[in-house]
Amino acid sequence: MSRVLIVEDEPQIRRFVRLALHGEGCEVTETGTLREGLALAGDTRPDLVILDLGLPDGDGLDFIRAWRAWSEAPLLVLSARGLEADKVAALDAGADDYLSKPFGVAELLARARALLRRRGAGEGAARPLREFGRVAVDLARREVRVDGQAVHLTPIEYRLLTLFLSHPGRVLTHRQLLREVWGPGHGNSGHTLRVYVGRLRHLLEQDPTQPQHVLTEIGVGYRFESEAAPT
Ligand code: CA
Repeated sequence: MSRVLIVEDEPQIRRFVRLALHGEGCEVTETGTLREGLALAGDTRPDLVILDLGLPDGDGLDFIRAWRAWSEAPLLVLSARGLEADKVAALDAGADDYLSKPFGVAELLARARALLRRRGAGEGAARPLREFGRVAVDLARREVRVDGQAVHLTPIEYRLLTLFLSHPGRVLTHRQLLREVWGPGHGNSGHTLRVYVGRLRHLLEQDPTQPQHVLTEIGVGYRFESEAAPT
């Protein structure tokens, strides 16, 4: 049986989608907020997420980016926004498909079935926990702990961290990092990036002056390693 998570704040649409999926024999979990949606995504590890972009506590694009940091399970976006730019942004962030409201039940189910088929039955998503050194990150709850103590990161710091976590061992260029964290229209420089990398190291590294996890690739960018290099 496929597990589907619906994140949609309009009760009527949610009910409509839930009933349709029940008719297909899916097991459905649902919520109307981004925050609870991410927590449920971590707990229930759905085979498919159906996501509304306009949520009361945040932008659905942030859900997509967070979810993509730990899961490759398909995601179908529902949105009242008919603009091409919004579709492109959702797909770029990691959505697999897109339905504009209003939509019909037959099309919804056809797209859901196609995404679930592509995924294959019962693959099960990865766990939303990442650990390195003294640090544990719960990607679903967006909680960071160092030696078991909760640490507060700003949204930018957190986004930078999750970007590193989703590309372990790979060099991320300055340009890539600026674009992914601050967005395509960012007016930020390499200096801003250095400041934020410095803060992350200060928060998360044993010795920020001798970083073991967020490593500098001189003149290019940074590389994240979950295993500390032997000293
Ligand atoms: Ca909405």
